[in-house]
Amino acid sequence: MSKIPEDAAERRAIAPVICYPVETLPAPDLGLYRAARAGARKVAEWRVPPREASDFSVPAGQFFRISSIEGPQVGDLNLWNADDMTERFYSGKTRALHGTHLTEGHRLWSSFPALRPMATVVTDSLAWYGVDAFGGRVHDVIGTRCDPYTGNLLSGTQYHHCCHSNLTRAVADARGMTLEDAETHVHDVLNVFMCTGFTRDTGQYFMKASPVRPGDHLEFFAEIDLLGALSACPGGDCGDKHSSDAAACHPLLVEVFAPEDGALQGWVPPARNGYDRSHGR
Ligand SMILES: [Zn+2]
Repeated sequence: MSKIPEDAAERRAIAPVICYPVETLPAPDLGLYRAARAGARKVAEWRVPPREASDFSVPAGQFFRISSIEGPQVGDLNLWNADDMTERFYSGKTRALHGTHLTEGHRLWSSFPALRPMATVVTDSLAWYGVDAFGGRVHDVIGTRCDPYTGNLLSGTQYHHCCHSNLTRAVADARGMTLEDAETHVHDVLNVFMCTGFTRDTGQYFMKASPVRPGDHLEFFAEIDLLGALSACPGGDCGDKHSSDAAACHPLLVEVFAPEDGALQGWVPPARNGYDRSHGR
């Protein structure tokens, strides 16, 4: 056990500062997006079966909605630039900028060197949830994804319907890749509808039954042309077990909506990051 210094209380009392103040980030024009969404028409939909994943595509300037349809269900979301899969959703940087959980007005940022908004959250029917007495919030960017490797590490299992494997199969099917190649594109997710936090005493990642109910949805504006993949997590509402077939699981629905011509006057897709990449040489 380390020795407590005399000025321990003083050191602990230092007020925190926000690592990345977001005031200088280009703000999304939610008013414009919502006005465009009001006149939009549905152009595509995908139904994601329980314990499986589905790929989907959304052109820049359209909207995609993820909905709970038959019962409480968590979804694990991956996004890529449809034309260059090396640009993909960067969960860690999104967390550093916006916090551990996402809601309306937050953006899903892409990996280096592009580091630009891929999508913007326009509507969150669970925004009312806020933070509960346990510190739980909805839609996290902390949980990476359930995967068969951690399951094997902790309990020696060979389970094939974790979100990681579901997403791997979806990418393989979408792009005609081997599973081995497809797996390299799967990345840390946005945990759609999942209710999570960190325990105050040990700082451990916790989950609890999601407050999502059929009809709830999370809707995004696609800032660039997107390839997406969504897994209906084998944890169901993630109130108890995952990485097995024990939990009750339900499908999820992905719908795409196209605004009317001219409805996005003034909007342009975000430019790639401006850093010159000379790295000091
Ligand atoms: Zn999962």
